[in-house]
Amino acid sequence: MSEEIHPRVLLKRLEQRARRRFGQHFLARPGIVTRIVRAARVEPGDRVVEVGPGLGILTRALLAAGADLTAIELDRDMAEFIREEHPDVRLIEGDAMRVNLDEELPGSGWKVVANLPYNVGTRLMLNWVDMPDRFESLTVMLQKEVVDRILADPGTRAYGSLTVQMRARAKARMICAVPPAAFYPPPKVDSAVIQLFPHVPDLGGVPSAHFDRVVRAAFSQRRKTLRNALSALFDRDVVDAALTQTGIDGQIRGEMLDLDAFRAISAQLPE
Ligand code: SAH
Repeated sequence: MSEEIHPRVLLKRLEQRARRRFGQHFLARPGIVTRIVRAARVEPGDRVVEVGPGLGILTRALLAAGADLTAIELDRDMAEFIREEHPDVRLIEGDAMRVNLDEELPGSGWKVVANLPYNVGTRLMLNWVDMPDRFESLTVMLQKEVVDRILADPGTRAYGSLTVQMRARAKARMICAVPPAAFYPPPKVDSAVIQLFPHVPDLGGVPSAHFDRVVRAAFSQRRKTLRNALSALFDRDVVDAALTQTGIDGQIRGEMLDLDAFRAISAQLPE
């Protein structure tokens, strides 16, 4: 890794610039790349999908670890660069949000590794975490604030619908925090690498769409009591019956409920 060329130098050589439109912030610290690849536990022959390879710093580390690598890149120039430099990478040129997964990433056991623009990254996580059969793990760089929300404890400010929806679907662990200076050009916010292991949502028979609706309603107005927040979606007497059934105090706020409590109250509310 020590011979990695700094992205500023590589861009210049390629007569390219970091494109804001594609949220390009290239990793410039080999040490962080190593940590990501190690955390992803890539073994020779593993099917890995890298989203947004860019100038290929992670790509090279994944190949060195023996990954059977598929990469998805939206920027035509970056895609061309990867294709030329790394002909053994299967490259899909296009938007990761629009890839036909059944065709391009068939079967199971895929490991996802990505340093993507943060808006795309969060949406992609939310979508892909819902496919535990396809994805074994997702190891991704996100905005630190989003990682903190995913890992938050009930009753804290960061705890919200993203926390609960993710917690129902995946085990999550923090890999490391990453400062802006680790990228070129540096982003305005702190970043962090998180790892998610998706599983079939354990909701005791409650359909996940219904569960998500209840969770979002509970957090829709953070200063409201749980009873009032849920009453925006269900009749008040239905809400009161559900609260009585579950023994949950309707005067508390949604952010006090853990996953078990959300599961219980969802089961008592009509779909
Ligand atoms: N992984 C590289 C590049 C990070 S910059 C590194 O760590 O250095 C983000 C990369 O994601 C860029 O290459 C950008 O072109 C690509 N990208 C942005 N939006 C994308 C999308 N919707 N689908 C696939 N790739 C995307």
